[in-house]
Amino acid sequence: MPEGDSLHRAARRLQVLVGEQVEVETPHPRAAVKGLAARLDGRTLERVEAVGKNLLLSFDGGLVLRSHLRMNGRWRVQRRGAAPLGKPWLVLRGGEHEAVLWNGEVLELLGARAAPRLGPDILAEPPDYETMLARLRGERPEREVGDALLDQRLVAGIGNLWKAEALWEARISPWQQLGELGDSELLVVLEVAHRLMRASVEGPRPTRRVYRRAGRGCPRCGGIVRSAPQGDHARTAYWCPSCQVGGNAPPS
Ligand SMILES: [Zn+2]
Repeated sequence: MPEGDSLHRAARRLQVLVGEQVEVETPHPRAAVKGLAARLDGRTLERVEAVGKNLLLSFDGGLVLRSHLRMNGRWRVQRRGAAPLGKPWLVLRGGEHEAVLWNGEVLELLGARAAPRLGPDILAEPPDYETMLARLRGERPEREVGDALLDQRLVAGIGNLWKAEALWEARISPWQQLGELGDSELLVVLEVAHRLMRASVEGPRPTRRVYRRAGRGCPRCGGIVRSAPQGDHARTAYWCPSCQVGGNAPPS
């Protein structure tokens, strides 16, 4: 699953096309039927921004293209005319560069100001922690924090990787219920997620401590990292039961 930070990287790479009139093609048949090329070809790309897990590309005339990468989507920016392999969903071609979207899956044209309803962006500078906290507090107090952090209506941009890493760093178990955690604990998790994800946008990805490390030693206490499905979507939680205690963790 692409995380918010990889979307920010894509948004940054796509900046080379901002201000250019772009040629637009939709080679993939499932993208072609959307009629996007006809509506966008020749327009000026005015802005590219990552909002939560969406990439929003604004064109002149108030048209906004929303791209959500789901599990396999990927944007590439390359020199114009690089040989295409296969059928990308979308090609935006400028004078020197072209941006190519593979496995677009979710690609739709919105009117201006029709951004999806999302919580505040964890990667904003500075993030709106107050609203995030208010939204978390508006949830059922029994909801587990590891599940709530992935709910994009509450906080936008945190995926499974940074959820696991931020909770580990904050020494909070993903199985703790929101009602068991104080405001200061929730704020610490949000601040850590912001810091780790910003660092990842700006430099190489920081070392993973627990994500996909089930069965290995916790780098802090030496306990054995565990994993288990969590929440309605059964996303895998990773945590160290020795230093992230509390909550109703499933039996090992
Ligand atoms: Zn530990």
